[in-house]
Amino acid sequence: MNWSWQTFQNRLRITGELVAQTGVRVGMSAETAMPTATDLPVIKDANGKPFIPGSSLRGAVRAYVERIVRTFEGDAHPSKGEARGKGACIPTDKDRWCLESREGLSEEEIYDCSCRVCRALGSPWLASRVRFTDLALIQRDGQSRIEPELRDAVAIDREKESVANKYDFEALPAGVRFQFELIAENLSEGEELGLVLLGVRALEQGEILIGGFKGRGLGHVKLEGTQYEWIDRANLKDYLITGQAGVLDETRRKAALEALFNALTEGR
Ligand SMILES: [Zn+2]
Repeated sequence: MNWSWQTFQNRLRITGELVAQTGVRVGMSAETAMPTATDLPVIKDANGKPFIPGSSLRGAVRAYVERIVRTFEGDAHPSKGEARGKGACIPTDKDRWCLESREGLSEEEIYDCSCRVCRALGSPWLASRVRFTDLALIQRDGQSRIEPELRDAVAIDREKESVANKYDFEALPAGVRFQFELIAENLSEGEELGLVLLGVRALEQGEILIGGFKGRGLGHVKLEGTQYEWIDRANLKDYLITGQAGVLDETRRKAALEALFNALTEGR
C-alpha cells in the first residue's frame, strides 16, 4: 500500500491543447437558471479574455471516470464506509457518497474507506491529488482577437407551454484552442494513475463534453499534442539537478490502464 502524503513518491504533469470541435460555452451562471433578458456571457478573466475554469473540466472528467468505474464495479453506496478503493460514489447525491462523514476517522482511515474515484480525485474529506489548471485561451501572434459569438436561444415557460422569452448567449467558436495542464501527485503507479489516464484518453478521443447547451450540440472538445512529464524517485535527482523531467512513455501508460482494468474486473 502506498500510503504517504508526507514524502515525495511521484509527480505527473500532462500538457496539451484542448481544441473546440464545436462551439463551446462555459458560462458565468448555472445553465439551468431561467435566463433574463440580458445576454449570458462566457466566463472571462480579469483582462476580459475567455477561459475555461479548471474546476469545470475537472467535473466533466470526473463524471466520465465515475461512469466507467460504475459500469464495472457499481456504486460505492451499498457498502457505505466500506468502499475500500472500489466503485464510485455519486457526488451530487449525499445518500450515495462512499463516506458520510469524517467523524472520528484519521486521514489514513478516510482514504481506506473511500471509493476509487474519491481516492484519486478527492472528496469533501480527502484532498485531491489531481489538479486541473485554468485553461487559458491560446491566441497566436498575428491572429485576430478571438471574441465570443452571440447565439440566440428560446426559453420555454413549462407551465404555460409557451415561449417565455428569447435571449442571446455567448459561445466561443469551433476551432478555438485552450492550454491544458493537469498535475497529479503521489498516485499509485497502477490503478490510480490508470484512472487519471483513462480521463485523459477520453479527452483525446473527444468523448467528454464541457460547458452548457450540450443539447444544442455545443461543448465538443479534443485534447491534442499531449505530453506526459513524469518524476519519481528514480529520476528525482536528475530532475533536481537538470530541471529535466522524465517522460511517462506509452508502455507505462498502457501498463497503468491495464492495472486499472484488471482491478475493475477482479472477482467478476
Ligand atoms: Zn467516493
